[in-house]
Amino acid sequence: MSGERILVIEDEARIAQFVERGLIYEGYRVTVARDGKNGLATARDNPPDLVILDWMLPGLDGLEVCKRLRAASDVPILMLTAKDDIQDRVTGLDAGADDYLVKPFSVDELLARIRALFRRTTPTSRPDVLRFGDLTLDTGTHRAYRGERAIDLTAKEYELLELFMRNPRQVLTRDVIFDRVWDYDFGGESNIIEVYVRYLRQKTESENEPRLIHTVRGVGYVLREE
Ligand code: CA
Repeated sequence: MSGERILVIEDEARIAQFVERGLIYEGYRVTVARDGKNGLATARDNPPDLVILDWMLPGLDGLEVCKRLRAASDVPILMLTAKDDIQDRVTGLDAGADDYLVKPFSVDELLARIRALFRRTTPTSRPDVLRFGDLTLDTGTHRAYRGERAIDLTAKEYELLELFMRNPRQVLTRDVIFDRVWDYDFGGESNIIEVYVRYLRQKTESENEPRLIHTVRGVGYVLREE
């Protein structure tokens, strides 16, 4: 299932859980961040298709998070506010929010707003660019970048890197990698995955950058920070 990815930035556990359950039930893939700093980091590493952003957050408030998200991307932003104040709405929309919802709200209302936002924003010519740390993969051109440095990939290297980039911080077993990248079974003896991981490491670490594709001994590999 390939539901749209929604990032929920909300510090109140009860509301975050209520929103998360409603969205998952509807088939969306959900990530919850509990403060603005984590929310921004998550959005940068794994860009969501839509952000639900609470106004009142500890540390960076929702308004500041909204401005920073908007400076980096066109992702639709739905703000949550407890204050039904006309000035807040204006301020929020000025900061780049696409819509807002006043607490308390029903799941049905939330889902309706989300559908409306997706209708308004899809499918523009926004290229699908995957990011993890300073590694970028353009799924249109099939080129990768480590920081500013462009990396040319062969077809299989691209497929393998795309698999990692679409599943960051998740351990991918050798079986899963075989299945998704090579489509058939090489049998237990093959070291084709090791060979291709080595190619990708050579290309992504050629300037001595920190390793991103790590070996999980006896299991497989994971894309994660050092
Ligand atoms: Ca809050």
